[in-house]
Amino acid sequence: MDYDVIIIGAGPGGIYAAYELTRENKDLKIAVFEAGNELSKRKCPIDGERIKTCINCKSCSIMSGFGGAGAFSDGKYNITNDFGGTLYEYIGKEKAISLMEYVDSINLSHGGEGTKLYTTANTTLKKVCMQNKLQLLDASVRHLGTDINYVVLENLYNELKDLVEFRFLTPVRKLEVIYEEDASDPQGYRVITDDGSHTCRKCIVSVGRSGSKWMEEVCEDLDIPTESNRVDIGVRVELPAALFSHLTDELYESKIVYRTEKFEDKVRTFCMNPRGSVVNENTNGIVTVNGHSYEDPAKQTENTNFALLVSKHFSVPFKDSNGYGESIARLSNMLGGGVIVQRFGDLIRGRRTNHKRLQDSFVTPTLKAEPGDLSLVLPKRILDGIIEMIYALDKIAPGTANDDTLLYGVEVKFYNMDVKLNDHLETPYKGLYIIGDGSGVTHSLSHASASGVFVARDILETA
Ligand SMILES: Cc1cc2nc3c(=O)[nH]c(=O)nc-3n(C[C@H](O)[C@H](O)[C@H](O)COP(=O)(O)OP(=O)(O)OC[C@H]3O[C@@H](n4cnc5c(N)ncnc54)[C@H](O)[C@@H]3O)c2cc1C
Repeated sequence: MDYDVIIIGAGPGGIYAAYELTRENKDLKIAVFEAGNELSKRKCPIDGERIKTCINCKSCSIMSGFGGAGAFSDGKYNITNDFGGTLYEYIGKEKAISLMEYVDSINLSHGGEGTKLYTTANTTLKKVCMQNKLQLLDASVRHLGTDINYVVLENLYNELKDLVEFRFLTPVRKLEVIYEEDASDPQGYRVITDDGSHTCRKCIVSVGRSGSKWMEEVCEDLDIPTESNRVDIGVRVELPAALFSHLTDELYESKIVYRTEKFEDKVRTFCMNPRGSVVNENTNGIVTVNGHSYEDPAKQTENTNFALLVSKHFSVPFKDSNGYGESIARLSNMLGGGVIVQRFGDLIRGRRTNHKRLQDSFVTPTLKAEPGDLSLVLPKRILDGIIEMIYALDKIAPGTANDDTLLYGVEVKFYNMDVKLNDHLETPYKGLYIIGDGSGVTHSLSHASASGVFVARDILETA
């Protein structure tokens, strides 16, 4: 075998797996194959002037490369079993939390020291939410911020690069199982790239959201059972930071859930960015919206943004939940050429926001988006839920339902299909692990990283 362990994907899942393997056993021969670039070479060409929209680079610098999809994220590491994935269903709640805390300690020792850990424990805001038909989910959140998150990744890379063989711009095309004659368990795995094939005893697949299509192919090829997952659809809300400061100063990010009266759907807040910026996100050529914020006060804005999302899961006869989300995002791209922005007051009055109304607004948008009408894009059931939730939030943060509150659409959170794994996060093939967002088990930085540490320890026990 060429390697003891091959890791496919250098996102948080792959990085923390490599970190733990090398920390405990420096003799292991490990390679990481990554479709994207190394961290310092990850540059999105969109500069807003010369290049305004996505030019579909061979490898998307936002989603791919060392650091994975999280490299330019807000770096919010939520330590909780209440959201961010279902890792606890495989390894137990206590273990999941202790691994997330361990990841937090690594982040602190690699540049994150001095960043703040926020917590919902003992907050009076929980009661205020309950009194207004809202539920505040329990969590501790380490906010690294986009800037410190980058520093942590840089430090991890510098530490790992001499212990692990990184092969950047090398997407794995195919994964094969190697059997010895008459053996029931595989002897190892063969990873096939454009530059040739490489063998290993154990293989960790951590290809995240951007590797979802490839992951599906692998599961089909190897007959690994999968199940369709949900899609989250909604808008990003932007309003003056002062309106949410009582929540964000104490909790930084509050995950609040509301059950609508009309359809009894759940609408939730997601990815809250105090004094942050709204940004474009490109998934396979479809432009959606996201947000981030910096730890550095000099880079902060006057606004806070967060998403309001509704989950949809299709099963029979239609089961392509992601395809449904993609179609809605495509519709917004068709009407607005990208992301659409609308004032809440205009949405309620049933009229389009135009440039004049946006200019007169008291809230200055942090993203240049096309003013338009989100009611022409979002299905009624989803839009009604979002409007209900905005009025519910207005009770705990008066001003949320102001006319000038900005709604950007659409925000879509795609999830990978759930891959059938045992409680070692191992496929039916011994020594083939699937972790992170690519497995459908996680959908956050902390859960993906924790899953990496977990399988690394599993491998170390049998190495
Ligand atoms: C803009 C943005 C902001 C976010 N903010 C937050 C946040 O604040 N907090 C939070 O918890 N989560 C956040 N997330 C989500 C978080 O980034 C992901 O949950 C996390 O990165 C998942 O880690 P992962 O290792 O499973 O996958 P990824 O980070 O997606 O990494 C997978 C890697 O595998 C590579 N790859 C894919 N296919 C192949 C292949 N065939 N061969 C080789 N390599 C391959 C990809 O190039 C990629 O680098 C954010 C996401 C985005 C896009």
